[in-house]
Amino acid sequence: MSLAEFALPYVRAISPYQPGKPITQLAREMGIPVESIVKLASNENPLGMSPKARQAVEAAISGIERYPDQFDLIAKVAGLTGLATNQVVLGNGSNDVLDLIARVFLAPGRSAVFSQHAFAVYPLATLSTGAEPIQTPARDFGHDLAAMQAAIRPDTRIVWIANPNNPTGNFLPYPEVRAFLENVPRDVIVVLDEAYNEYLPPEARVDTAAWITEFPNLVICRTFSKIFGLAGLRVGYALASPEVADLMNRVRQPFNVNSLALAAALAALDDHEFITASYELNRQGMAQMVAGLNRLGLEFIPSSGNFVTFKTRDAAGVNQRLLKQGVIVRPIGGYGMPDWLRVTIGKPAENSRFLDALESALGGAQ
Ligand code: PMP
Repeated sequence: MSLAEFALPYVRAISPYQPGKPITQLAREMGIPVESIVKLASNENPLGMSPKARQAVEAAISGIERYPDQFDLIAKVAGLTGLATNQVVLGNGSNDVLDLIARVFLAPGRSAVFSQHAFAVYPLATLSTGAEPIQTPARDFGHDLAAMQAAIRPDTRIVWIANPNNPTGNFLPYPEVRAFLENVPRDVIVVLDEAYNEYLPPEARVDTAAWITEFPNLVICRTFSKIFGLAGLRVGYALASPEVADLMNRVRQPFNVNSLALAAALAALDDHEFITASYELNRQGMAQMVAGLNRLGLEFIPSSGNFVTFKTRDAAGVNQRLLKQGVIVRPIGGYGMPDWLRVTIGKPAENSRFLDALESALGGAQ
């Protein structure tokens, strides 16, 4: 007898999320010292965490015996986005809020639309509720909003959009997103996942939070895992209409964000020096990576995030040869891109180490 027989069929059908290989795992597998490994696999901040956030974590340890209070972070996010506090829902990473939205609106007999090559959690969150995933073909590796709109059925309750998208780095200009919102039925939730929003150049940014009044079906998700450097603490948030936020809070675990994460996120929002340094490092690192990939003659997808995805013959073999040299990148075969690898922008020395390792992994023939 297998207990799997008794599990929900739609849970059995899920293929698990494949995270980037942890440094410690590569060290164990290849006998490489942890210090000499470069991990550019999970779009983490190469500068670490903000010094202000670190201080806040240290201070928060003294109250760790108490249950956390989300009040201050919610108030801060509301203030910064110009929304009311009842429009902010915190999550244990933005992954958690994606899951909350799915649990509120999806179930067997309903469906959700997302693009080919979009973030892996959209099909996962959809499938875990028993709803039907509808994947639309990508256009130049990014979201084809016209195709997504055409795919909406009467039973569709959510459309998932990542902007910029992971793992392709594509960016949809905001006027196109707005036009999409204008055309989508108002009873369909549009999730706009802006995990990499802070890496956009100032001229590309738009105050999307202000759109929620006009489009109460819009839910915006953001995270502290990327530019704020807090991936290990797990904290993110959703911005929504008061009605949708209230529904999400009904299925949210009461203490889903821990006290250290709350304190760190609050302080990180105020560390403008760290945010600017992280943005600049990424901008320069992206130029370095793009120049390196061009020099090696590799095709890549222009990216608006803190990573870039490139094509190579024998991606699995190249990945293996990178690992042997202590460099971890992300194979994205699970995203339907078996010939591509995604690399996170690191510090200049890490980028050079990756590019040198890549050159030797290619062995002169790509
Ligand atoms: N959305 C996108 C598009 C992402 O790439 C990620 C992280 N890889 C997330 C959401 C989730 O990040 P977190 O749960 O760490 O906030």
